[in-house]
Amino acid sequence: MTVERILAVKGRDVVTTQPHRTLLEVSNLLAEKGIGAVIVVDAGANILGILSERDVVHAIAHHGPVALGEAVSKFMTAKVATTTRASSIQTVMEQMTTGRFRHVPVTHHGRLEGVVSIGDLVKYRIAEIESEHEALRDYIAHA
Ligand code: AMP
Repeated sequence: MTVERILAVKGRDVVTTQPHRTLLEVSNLLAEKGIGAVIVVDAGANILGILSERDVVHAIAHHGPVALGEAVSKFMTAKVATTTRASSIQTVMEQMTTGRFRHVPVTHHGRLEGVVSIGDLVKYRIAEIESEHEALRDYIAHA
């Protein structure tokens, strides 16, 4: 199964921000949208970085509340691991496990076209296990 399947269900909306936005503005955005990370893009929609709630916590822990007034570009991760629609869900799970992050942007020819989170993967896996379970029960009941 591929990433395409997840995007087809959850949609391709991606919450983005610009590098000059303050950490407070982006924290408000995370809270308002109920999400754990935003993709930082330039005016041409090219990916510059990713900022997750973990980065907000680190910024405040290391710099104090003054960090909230500073630009997200200072705290984002600039080297972003991405995936594509055609990648397998298993590969993305391994990417998250190895990289120790919970969000992976999906790109197509360098353009941002979705985000997959650990929550999406868990939801998908539970649905998959439930349907396998149901198929087995049907099989046993009719054997
Ligand atoms: P997360 O687990 O997604 O909240 O992120 C944990 C850390 O990894 C934070 O410092 C993020 O900026 C960073 N991070 C999140 N997603 C990615 C990604 N796809 N590529 C590289 N770093 C990431």
